[in-house]
Amino acid sequence: MKKGNLLLYMMLGGIAAGIISGWVFGKEMEVVGWMGEIFLNLLKMLVIPLIVSSMIVGIAGLGDVRKVGKTGAITLIYFTCTTAISVALGLIMVNLINPGLGVEMTATEIPQRIAEKEAVGVTDILKSFVSDNLVRSMAQLDILPIILFSLIFGGVLTTLGEKGQPVIAFFDGVNEAIMKMVHLVMYVAPLGVFSLVASKLGAAGGGDLFLAEIMKLGKYSLTVVLALGVHAVVVLPLILYMVTKRNPLKYFINASEALTTAFSTASSSATLPVTIECAEERNMVSRKASLFVLPLGATVNMDGTALYEAVAALFIAQLFGIELGFGQQMIIFITATLAAVGAAGIPEAGLVTMVMVLHAVGLPLEGIGMLLSIDWLLDRFRTATNVWGDSVGAAVVDTLEAKYVEGGKEN
Ligand code: ASP
Repeated sequence: MKKGNLLLYMMLGGIAAGIISGWVFGKEMEVVGWMGEIFLNLLKMLVIPLIVSSMIVGIAGLGDVRKVGKTGAITLIYFTCTTAISVALGLIMVNLINPGLGVEMTATEIPQRIAEKEAVGVTDILKSFVSDNLVRSMAQLDILPIILFSLIFGGVLTTLGEKGQPVIAFFDGVNEAIMKMVHLVMYVAPLGVFSLVASKLGAAGGGDLFLAEIMKLGKYSLTVVLALGVHAVVVLPLILYMVTKRNPLKYFINASEALTTAFSTASSSATLPVTIECAEERNMVSRKASLFVLPLGATVNMDGTALYEAVAALFIAQLFGIELGFGQQMIIFITATLAAVGAAGIPEAGLVTMVMVLHAVGLPLEGIGMLLSIDWLLDRFRTATNVWGDSVGAAVVDTLEAKYVEGGKEN
């Protein structure tokens, strides 16, 4: 058995053991939570040096600034198209299944963390790209400004000629060292994912309470998981195959360590080191493409979150008996896409940026209270979809870059 496969089986075993023990022993499993926290923190501590070095090496690998521009455009087109498809899919499913009809509305208060975010708007998302203090952003794992800085920094380095070379070589070394550290951290991944899943399910009250919660929102959860499933199993593999001619199943299996990590951590940012490792070393995506696309994707490309926001908004409308016409659903389409860009790659971030979507069409924020009890679980499915979307993107951009930027006519 290959070493990589063994790790994957152990991680899947960890998730299964986590589900069973959390289900059976309930709250008692919270005692194992510390192991998961250590695993999560080990991954998180690698994120900042990884993002900075990846963006710089990725950009330097692309060559001059014009090539960066073209590859950036291809990446943005991929992100926008796949996110738009996923939101459309969510809207279609929710209109077909109507999960909110006949559900009793029991939440009456706006959750505290949602109430605090009441004023989040499009301009706030734009503002979040720039930070006045990079060190603070790093300390808070506030990734967008760091990406923007590294993008510009890397771009400028490529224009410096000889003077830029040692700096690029330095970050290249940093990047390789961090990737080696990722390998080391993955040794504890099976224990980490076990602990994260067991303690979370335990904290939710174990199997019985969980079943009761999921029954209340069964149709809604089913709509979300079904729509995410179609996007992940049909749409993305189709795009992967059509553009790159790669075998989607093989690509999926090779990305599975990242997907299981995403499922257990509910954080695309914490998963990023593993996502890069799977793309580069197992799926053989070129280094420049994976280092450029994946850090960007982990923060701005969230197909699962966008789809979720659209389904949740319409579910809330149905709960309150509010009819939304085509025009208003279009507004949801646009704001859900933006809200996903604005959502950080951390657990349940999508729930908070949903305020923007609800505001845009005048839906009551109290509706979010209804979704809280089940969000920790749905978050895992959407995070795995987010990471899968990024992983496919790396291969797609890699192929298109080789065809149209590297091999294309210089002008
Ligand atoms: N947890 C998600 C992620 O990290 C974001 C969200 O939808 O809440 O990708």
